[in-house]
Amino acid sequence: MSILPLLPLYHAFNRAYFEGSLTFGTRPLASVRWSDGRLRKTAGYYRRVNRFGRLHKGEIVLSRPILEKLPQSATESTLCHEMIHVWIDQVLKVKEGHGEHFYKRMAFINASQDRFQISVRHNFPVPQSAPKWWAICPSCGARFSYQRIVRGAACRSCCNTHYHGRWNANCLLEYHRVEKGV
Ligand SMILES: [Zn+2]
Ligand SMILES: [Zn+2]
Repeated sequence: MSILPLLPLYHAFNRAYFEGSLTFGTRPLASVRWSDGRLRKTAGYYRRVNRFGRLHKGEIVLSRPILEKLPQSATESTLCHEMIHVWIDQVLKVKEGHGEHFYKRMAFINASQDRFQISVRHNFPVPQSAPKWWAICPSCGARFSYQRIVRGAACRSCCNTHYHGRWNANCLLEYHRVEKGV
């Protein structure tokens, strides 16, 4: 799944579900962008950017590492969720997280199409980080990926084959740091 351009989606959702209220002229009330590779805790967020000591324009950021591997509907529901926050913050101008206004608008959008469903929480799987270590069996050459060194871990298949299933130091895995890009 490649990453979608977000601004055209923003404009389409604005017309379809927010009566065009999320633009000022043709300018969106919040800018929309993809995160870099580090936003891994949440699929997206909306915030007001501080500038010159004042609350300035709003910004929606969507997580590239979480959403790029999911179907397009995940990006759509996340963007729409954040746009509800923009609407509450800048059109209704009320302080609310996921309250009455949020639920009403979410239910309205969910009922008016069946491409995607918005939820209150973004329940998407968070990608595992890349393995840091290769553990290699000196006897058979099998490779296993590990996040951290596990002391005393041995190759199960070699212990089974050569030592009647008992742990043996000859089958101890050797750790090698994973090189980036390998
Ligand atoms: Zn939210
Ligand atoms: Zn082995």
